[in-house]
Amino acid sequence: MSQKIQKWPGVELSQEEIDSGKIATTSWHPSAKYAWSAGEAMSRFLEELKQGHLVGRKCRTCQRILFPPRMFCEECFRPTDEWVQLKDTGTVETYSISYVDKDARRITEPIFVGVISIDGASPKMGWMHYFGEIGKEELRFGLKVKAVWEPPEHRKGSVLDVKYFRPAREGEG
Ligand SMILES: [Zn+2]
Repeated sequence: MSQKIQKWPGVELSQEEIDSGKIATTSWHPSAKYAWSAGEAMSRFLEELKQGHLVGRKCRTCQRILFPPRMFCEECFRPTDEWVQLKDTGTVETYSISYVDKDARRITEPIFVGVISIDGASPKMGWMHYFGEIGKEELRFGLKVKAVWEPPEHRKGSVLDVKYFRPAREGEG
């Protein structure tokens, strides 16, 4: 036979009691330090970014080049086979002109973000990134773009080792 709890022990605190200072409170800033593994494909991808390279993974069965790289081909259900160096140029697939920053604050100078198809990777492999050195009139679908890298000494093995993509010039890409 189960017993149903009719009344919880203790006294519930009201917001008023807390706000009025009747209840002793303390605030504490935890200093949490942690590390995690990015996994085999992402670790190599980030390490290559630090060297100024974009790399993908090729699946020999479907011949696709996956970017960002993945160790498993989701279409063939098998491991991918080899690393492939890609260019740092691509095509604008989608874009957004944002008047809200990453902390959701309104801004007057817009941020340009979008998805880029990297040259050499298979279709439908997008990389979301910033656009720069561009006006909102110039940004369009299908625009050829090129990566602008942080100087080598500032690279950290981060997707932001590429600062942004700018319009490609004649002969680039
Ligand atoms: Zn495949």
